[in-house]
Parts: sequence; structure tokens; C-alpha cells
Amino acid sequence: MLKFADLIDENVEELAALDTIDAGKLYSMNKMEIHSAAETIRYFAGAADKIHGETLKMSRELQAYTLSEPIGVVGHIIPWNFPSTMFVMKVGPSLAAGCTIIVKPAEQTPLSALFYAHLAKRAGIPNGVVNVVTGYGHTAGAAITSHMDVDMVSFTGSTEVGRLVMQAAALSNLKPVSLELGGKSPFIVFDDVDVDRVVDLALQGVLFNKGEICVAGSRVFVQQGIYDEFIIKLVEKAKSWVVGDPFNPNVDKKQYQKILSYIDIGKKEGATLLTGGKPSDRKGYYIEPTIFVDVKDDMTIAKEEIFGPVMSVLKFKSVEEVIKRANGTKYGLAAGVMTDNLNIANTVSRSIRAGVVWINCYFAFDNDLPYGGYKMSGFGRDCGLESLHKYLQVKSVATPIYNTPW
Ligand code: NAD
Repeated sequence: MLKFADLIDENVEELAALDTIDAGKLYSMNKMEIHSAAETIRYFAGAADKIHGETLKMSRELQAYTLSEPIGVVGHIIPWNFPSTMFVMKVGPSLAAGCTIIVKPAEQTPLSALFYAHLAKRAGIPNGVVNVVTGYGHTAGAAITSHMDVDMVSFTGSTEVGRLVMQAAALSNLKPVSLELGGKSPFIVFDDVDVDRVVDLALQGVLFNKGEICVAGSRVFVQQGIYDEFIIKLVEKAKSWVVGDPFNPNVDKKQYQKILSYIDIGKKEGATLLTGGKPSDRKGYYIEPTIFVDVKDDMTIAKEEIFGPVMSVLKFKSVEEVIKRANGTKYGLAAGVMTDNLNIANTVSRSIRAGVVWINCYFAFDNDLPYGGYKMSGFGRDCGLESLHKYLQVKSVATPIYNTPW
């Protein structure tokens, strides 16, 4: 695994180029993403020789212990928004756990996965341990989820497809699944913050990776005392974001049309469009950073995941009110709380039903930080040692101490 990580570092430029060609992602950002992909493999390589069971203290004259065994053949089905990060977040812990692996990358972004498999082979990982099967979800993906010899499926993608994955697992060999699904995360801004700093964070929270990030802070709740100042600065800064050509303007047309249709629904349902809302002048399927205000909690744009650069801003008064409203969605992936008031930060972070809460920051990821959803954002965790454990199963072994017949 350490050699595999070194080879990833040595091939950063090729891998970054493949992700840019496939996903329209910024080449310079990809290079950073791929260096951290190598770090993820190193992190889990470090865990591989620290997996152990326990010796148990039995109430009878038995000697007993547990073994932590690999769960077996793991099918990983991943989306297109972070092809490299997704690949290593799945392969790292399952490989360290001792599993054999089949990765099905998204049909839009298969190239880097194939290259990673090639590097795994060059690193000396035996044939058949890290496998990549490309293809569509309803064919290649479904073949994995319903296969009788696949022991587990770890899926990242939409809530809609997550439901199909669970169904196929139940109807085949009852394989366990872990689901990392969609989100509609709240980004909550209290009156006491430095508005300029938090406006930047809020924009990053929804525009990073073109808004195509599951934890996008797409519902921005702003407390009434700073609301007007916040909106003026937000719009000003959003207008200055450059919609650029990453070096190939080939982004997914289906996603582009989906985002534009949500913008249309937002306007029809009575939200006020402050900026953006239309395709950018650049060649390719790009959409301008888009901000809606006067958004009500029950509007479609406040409830459904758009997966694009579209922010809904909502005004609030009290802590109790914003907790209730922030929790008022079927999702529970992430949340941001912006305040210098420790009591508020503690109260809100413990009251939000989400798998990760960032206080005075957003998108703070780390290999050590478990990451996953509450509610319909899924279950199971990626990253951290938590993720290693989902690829292990416990075997209990017991034997009489004194050769007593049992
Ligand atoms: P998607 O659900 O359409 O596809 C994800 C993967 O599932 C792809 O590889 C696809 O081919 C496969 N698939 C589709 N139908 C299938 C089926 N019937 N059986 C088996 N596999 C099937 O998602 P997407 O459009 O690629 O990605 C966007 C979604 O992913 C968003 O909802 C986003 O929030 C979510 N996402 C979640 C996380 C997270 O960690 N929670 C991270 C990134 C993206």
C-alpha cells in the first residue's frame, strides 16, 4: 500500500489530467486532491497491521477470543464528483482490512480508476485484489449489488440509487451495505460573526467543485441582525467569482439541465433571484453562481439537493428556531455553525442531526475524521478508523480451559 501511495504521488499530473478530462474539474485542484489521495492510502496502510481482536473474560471455564476478519469481496460503487477521493476512501480501508475489491466508477468518470488499478498492479498488489469494472449503474452497478458472491457493497451516490442498492442486497444474499448519500446541508450564520470572512466561507460552501459536492452548504440561514449587510456582500462577491475553463469544457449536460430546471422552479415558487440563474458565457455546460433570497423552508429549492452552484438564503431570529428549521429536511449529512459564542456553538452542534458539524469552518476534511450521514443521507462512515471497521467482521473462538466436556 505504501508503494501504491508513492506511485500515486509520482503520477499526479496524469491522474489530475484524467479527472479534468472526465469531470471538468480544475486541474490545479485535482493535483492537490491526488496528493491527498496518496496520503489516504498511507493513512490506511498504517492501520493494516494494527487490526486485532480481544481476549474475553468468560463467566465459565472457557478461553475465548475474537478475531477481526475481512468481510470478503467488497463492491464499491462511486459517483463522478470526486473520482480520485472516492476511489481511495473506499479502496484504502477495505484493502487494509484484507478484503478483495471491485470498484465501479461512475460512467462519466472511469479513467482515473483504471489508472489507479494499473498503479496498484505496479505496486505489487496481487492480481484480482483491486479490480475495476466500468459501465453503467443499471448494468455493471446492479450486477455487483445483486451478486451472490459479493459480500458487501459500499455505495456513494444519490439517495434514490441508494434505495435500489439496499433493495438488491436484500433480494440477493443479504449482503450488508453502507450508503453515503445526498444532502441539503444548513450553513448557519449568527449575528456576532465577522461578516466578510463568513461570506467567503458561505460562497466556498456552495461553489467549491461547482457546487457538485454532497456536503454543499446550500441552505444558508442568516440571523436577522446582519442579514442585510450579509446579502449585499454575498452578491457582490458571488459576481466576482470566475466561471473558468479547467482546460476542457466538457461537463455533464444532464446535470447542467437539472440545475437550470431547479433555478426555474425557484423563480416560479416565488423566491427572489439576486444574482446568476443562467448559463455562463463560457463555452461548455457552466452555470453562474446563483443566489436566491426570500426562500421558504417548504420550497423545492430549499428541500431538494440541486448539486450545483445554487444557494438559498433564509433569515432567522433565534437559536431554537434555526435548530428546528435546519433539521427540517430528510437529509442529515453536514452542517456549518458560524459564531464566536461557545454556548451557541455547543448547543447547535449537538442539536443538529447530521454526520458532521463544522464550527467556524466548512469542508474541514481529514483522513482521521469519520464522515457520513444521518437520516436519508445514509449510514456507515467513510474515513477514520470507523471506516476500517465496516470492512471487518468479528469471529468468536472459544475452547474449554481444562479440557472439560461441554
Ligand atoms: P448516482 O446515484 O446517480 O450514481 C452513483 C453511482 O451509482 C454511479 O457509479 C452509478 O453508475 C451507480 N448506479 C446508478 N444506478 C445504479 C443501480 N441501479 N445499481 C447500482 N449502481 C447504480 O449519483 P451521481 O449522480 O453519480 O452522484 C451524485 C450524488 O452522489 C449526489 O446525490 C451526491 O450528494 C452524492 N454524493 C454523496 C457523497 C457522500 O459522501 N455522502 C459524496 C459524493 C456524492
